[in-house]
Amino acid sequence: MQDLMKKIVSLAKRRGFVYQSSEIYGGLKSAYDYGPLGAELKRNLMNEWWRDMVHAREDVVGLDASVIMHPKVWEASGHLAGFSDPLVDCLVCKERFRADKALEVAEGEPAKLFFPDKGAAKRALSLVERQLGVTLERRGKELNGAVGNDRGYCCPNCGSPWLSAERQFNLMFKSALGATDPLGEVAEAFEDGELDGLKGRELRAKLEALMKPSAVYLRPETAQAMFVQFANIQQSMSMKVPFGIAQMGKSFRNEITVEHFIFRSTEFEQMEMEFFVEPGTDDEWLDYWKEQRIAWWRKFANDPDKFMLRPHEPDELAHYAKACYDIEYEYPWGYGELEGIANRTDYDLGKHAKHSGAKLDYFDPVEKKRYTPYVIEPAAGATRGVLVYLIDAYTEEEVATGRGTETRVVLRLHPKLAPIKVAVLPLIKKGGMPEVAREVVEAFFARGINAKYDEQHTIGKRYRRHDEIGTPFCLTVDGQTLEDGTLTIRDRDTMEQRRISRDDAVNEIERLLREG
Ligand code: ATP
Repeated sequence: MQDLMKKIVSLAKRRGFVYQSSEIYGGLKSAYDYGPLGAELKRNLMNEWWRDMVHAREDVVGLDASVIMHPKVWEASGHLAGFSDPLVDCLVCKERFRADKALEVAEGEPAKLFFPDKGAAKRALSLVERQLGVTLERRGKELNGAVGNDRGYCCPNCGSPWLSAERQFNLMFKSALGATDPLGEVAEAFEDGELDGLKGRELRAKLEALMKPSAVYLRPETAQAMFVQFANIQQSMSMKVPFGIAQMGKSFRNEITVEHFIFRSTEFEQMEMEFFVEPGTDDEWLDYWKEQRIAWWRKFANDPDKFMLRPHEPDELAHYAKACYDIEYEYPWGYGELEGIANRTDYDLGKHAKHSGAKLDYFDPVEKKRYTPYVIEPAAGATRGVLVYLIDAYTEEEVATGRGTETRVVLRLHPKLAPIKVAVLPLIKKGGMPEVAREVVEAFFARGINAKYDEQHTIGKRYRRHDEIGTPFCLTVDGQTLEDGTLTIRDRDTMEQRRISRDDAVNEIERLLREG
């Protein structure tokens, strides 16, 4: 199961989809770079979303807002106070982790501690005895005899139930805007003795106050701009409720838990839409959007059954949400979130109206009534979507060769998502074939289709390379092309080849891509 992730991570690097950020300096935790093919895949996915959510709908318009917004936005939205994860330190192995991502162990249930080797287990055994006064029994790399406590969870790294108190930690990246130097302010206050005698909370509050005038934050979600610009967009575009504002782009969270490759990263891309509706119609619209969104993800998948809708339990709902569904995908390590569709009520517009003093309500010109719209928010992860489709597409199959069988790795990406749509391959590097192949590639460029000329290695190796990066079609220029103007077209999934006229090649590929 985790083997699959290893294979995907390795393919992603080897073939130019995803690299570790700043790799030559040892990498940066939870940061990734999308290479030439990854950039295409991500862009294709986001373009499909924009096309379906904005272009194809009369009731949704787009927005491209600043990453850094007025800090009051985050005060009003509750992010400054509440956008944090409960963090816990393990008292045994010192791992720091998110309490909501911990290993669930009910109170009174046996809690087995586990370590990478016997030496680590022995050290933990004596630490638990010395520092916590508990004697456990060691069996190889495991320690037995501990039980879960009223926290209901244990350390995900070693299984220990001995944990620090939960501490809130703000996930927003803070920066400073303008010509002031916040550290200079602090140094000055220190020199002037303004910090003398201050400790703990008081000291922290004073330091926060000194930094506050210049403090700004990188957005942790794209959503807030749609609320803040609600009135401008509604009026300038004469939008009538129900209508939506969509935005896609970068978000930033100082994530503590490193998880599964690009599933969770500090910098990631989101595709979010706020759909404003009349209160009372919100339940229907939530139903509508949850069905639309899961159908959208399934449409590009080989295995649509791996996507499911999971309603939030009442105790799981965010404080502002009336109801919420997660679209979950069955990752190799189990089900996890890909998109959330929430009924956020009038919470956000209400909060921003209150904090800014602006009017963020709507006058219905037909019914002659004024109200603050409710909001249905489908919020999806674009970079998480890239991971989902890499997992969905990765296939290995045994194929016959002249000398037996070999493993063929195929990335069965939906043609609309595939980084390269068609590879054009001269059978050999001479005899006029390269020239014809280049002319064919030019014809694709002229039609806006991402085609790739490729003459490196034998034709068999080239087919395998394009299978591995998900190129749905290969066109081969051979001796016969020069005689009768036909090319072979090879299908990535079936490996079937047939001849088509060179003059029809662009139309034929365009048709196949459209039919997807
Ligand atoms: P999670 O529970 O996984 O932390 P969340 O509920 O905090 O996610 P939302 O705030 O609802 O996430 O964001 C919407 C979507 O953005 C998520 O469904 C996910 O696809 C994506 N997303 C959120 N945080 C990250 C991250 N750190 N890295 C990559 N994608 C993310």
